[in-house]
Amino acid sequence: MKPLSALVSMATACLMLAACTKTDVKPENSLVFPAGTLYTAMPKAAFSKHKAGLLKAEYLTCNKSKSEGKTIIYNDKKTFPDAEFVSLDPRRGSTRMLTFAIGDQLTHDFGISQNAVHAAIERAMNTWSKASCTRLQMQQVFTTENLGYVSSQLGFGGYANNIADIQHAGFLPGEFFNQLTPGGGDFILAVTFTFIYFDENGAPTDIDGNGINDVAFRETYYNDNFQWRISKNTDYDIESVALHETGHALGLSHFGKGILCKDGKIRFTPRAVMNAVYVDALRQPKEEDKSFECAIWKNWNN
Ligand SMILES: [Zn+2]
Repeated sequence: MKPLSALVSMATACLMLAACTKTDVKPENSLVFPAGTLYTAMPKAAFSKHKAGLLKAEYLTCNKSKSEGKTIIYNDKKTFPDAEFVSLDPRRGSTRMLTFAIGDQLTHDFGISQNAVHAAIERAMNTWSKASCTRLQMQQVFTTENLGYVSSQLGFGGYANNIADIQHAGFLPGEFFNQLTPGGGDFILAVTFTFIYFDENGAPTDIDGNGINDVAFRETYYNDNFQWRISKNTDYDIESVALHETGHALGLSHFGKGILCKDGKIRFTPRAVMNAVYVDALRQPKEEDKSFECAIWKNWNN
């Protein structure tokens, strides 16, 4: 296993800031086209020197608080994305379609077939697709290779290229999550990494000029240190967590105020898919989730 790489130091830095803000990177330094030139009219070769690099990692924690006796307050407000997929991006195939792939990495048998895991994640993807006010089209890409760019860089297997815009790379051991933050393997259920494009000078790109970094791909990992289920009644429901992580893959941040109750459980207002902590199974976006997603994606098909 490789030691902590620059990649994870960057992820950790982001986690400590709770959320990376736009000031972390400076889109205004990025590629500028001649006046009046649309990115969609540029030949793909114009972007050939652009490379994907890590922007941030966002994770969902379990509901077992280690700080009992204290009142933990989560007070996340909706944050407009610091990075977005670009519609018709020539670097992603000039399409309005979002592709996704589901990998088979699994190091712990929790008694659920690979097919059932895939089906649960597919349902979560489908749910977001239907919830969208933009009729977001998602297309699954199949591969016989393992998936996982981050895991391949950290010596946990995987594949050193992304094959889809949104990758559910698989289930990895707690040690992988310990590299995100100390003890992370004990409380991080899942993490989603955002990769953006950088130009040949190392500056983040903003080819559509909307002031937001351009996403190259996003990748999710699940922690096999936990007992996973496909159940609305028993923790932890794969479909609910996949729905939350796909929310990040679509640019949604955490939101909601959480308080630690006397029974040791955390309760959120509003209760939403994008609350920072897993409370119980939630397989449908709430109105607050839907309006957030709609605000981000409303111009996708224009
Ligand atoms: Zn999250």
